[in-house]
Amino acid sequence: MARKAKLSCAFIYPEDYSLGMSNLGFQVVYDLLDSHPDVKVERFFFSRECKPKSLETHRSLKEFDLIALSLSFEPDFFKFIEMLKASDIPLFSSERPAGSPMLIGGGIALSANPEPYAKFLDIIFLGEAEEVIYPFLETLLQFKRKRWEIREKFFEKVVSIPGFYVPSLNPRAKNVGMRIKKVEVKSLDKRPACSAIISGEASFKNVFLLELNRGCPWKCLFCLIGWTGGKTRFLKKEIAIKKIEEGLRFTPRLGLVGTALTSYNGVGEIVDSAMAKGARISFSSLRLNSGDSQFLETLKKSGQKMVTIAPEAGSERLRFLLGKEIKNSQIENTLRLSCEAGLSRIKLYFMYGLPWEREEDIDAVISFICSARKKFRRLKFIVSLSPFVPKPWTPLQWVPMEREDVLKDKLSYLKKGLFSIGGVRVTAESIRRALMEALLSRGDRGIIEHMLVVSHKELQGLREQYIYRERRESESFPWDFVDNGLDKKELYKLYENRFALA
Ligand code: SF4
Repeated sequence: MARKAKLSCAFIYPEDYSLGMSNLGFQVVYDLLDSHPDVKVERFFFSRECKPKSLETHRSLKEFDLIALSLSFEPDFFKFIEMLKASDIPLFSSERPAGSPMLIGGGIALSANPEPYAKFLDIIFLGEAEEVIYPFLETLLQFKRKRWEIREKFFEKVVSIPGFYVPSLNPRAKNVGMRIKKVEVKSLDKRPACSAIISGEASFKNVFLLELNRGCPWKCLFCLIGWTGGKTRFLKKEIAIKKIEEGLRFTPRLGLVGTALTSYNGVGEIVDSAMAKGARISFSSLRLNSGDSQFLETLKKSGQKMVTIAPEAGSERLRFLLGKEIKNSQIENTLRLSCEAGLSRIKLYFMYGLPWEREEDIDAVISFICSARKKFRRLKFIVSLSPFVPKPWTPLQWVPMEREDVLKDKLSYLKKGLFSIGGVRVTAESIRRALMEALLSRGDRGIIEHMLVVSHKELQGLREQYIYRERRESESFPWDFVDNGLDKKELYKLYENRFALA
């Protein structure tokens, strides 16, 4: 018998279906919402071709009690705004009449700096949802019975649940004196993060995704996940094996997810056990930090054909300054082992526009790839280039972003050099999108409102104010009120130390 839901929830991933369904964070929260007996959740994805309609029953956004947004990449918020506009939902919380759906958002971008989104969302969740989503839903259900009569009272109750931030209760844009603690689950074992729905239309087609670890021990200076992803936690091997068995009942394709898979003690046994059951395995977000021959053996056994390495900078000097302590010889060792292990493709991630970057660092990217290409002719090289974006809560939050014209020059120089090598595929992230990402990462409560209406000239002004200037040590940031266990003074010390070495 179909259950009668007491609360309807529209769950949005503001990108197309294939990307949304390949996002493990989206899948996990969908499963949490769907598992509540009194909640009926329906999925929404972004499309320019038609008005937003739920995937399950084709209802419009307006018909739901709760609209929940999962935001992984800052610029996608503009797609969410388009979805609200197309659904005739007023954009600003203060303009939505009583009886409108409640809007809540979560995800890594919102958790790092919630302020840019504070005028649009009624509630922002900071951190990992597993342990607090049910108390939130219970509170919502209680107040819904009273028809949200006392919205303010509801908000007061919500902020007593860890990780929930209600911007309207803190109207001061800088939130002076207030701290909101980000939530982090202690163990991944209680509720392993895995695919709730396996889809043939997802980017990872028919793949059962399982997260083996969260947090990253390396803490590269520029990395948001490294600094704000919390303690490094691993899913217990026995639990991973059991979950994989369950997943393999539906598909033979398995995707292992994590930021520190090479540090997972026992990944070889997990792969062996899954292969014995007929699995085809991929490592969706693998970063090799050194020539780990045992891990490459595991990769070879798993049937994976491509390995991903993220040197980020071309020279060892710059890499070490950024906390990415990998020597060229280690990368070459990984390439050699990859060749020996029968892997055929190598993807290398580089950033440009980095702090302390000199001309020779840019040249070093080209010369490194050139030399590697000569030494490892059997490997196909894919080089991914992205502009550096100074992210909140990293030791580089004080540095300016490189200007658009300089970034364009550097990118075209890199492309020209890499293409001249031959046999190298280059993919480049859009510079405009990276600048938009930077504005949103570093913005305050007014930034999106401005971005929605500015002329090209005014946009330059915003960039000058928010991203092109170096920050003073004493400067307060819009995100200072997020309590994620990091000490701003310690971050600055680290920045200063590296600055002195540069
Ligand atoms: S860049 Fe990779 S290795 Fe470095 S902190 Fe981030 S996730 Fe970890």
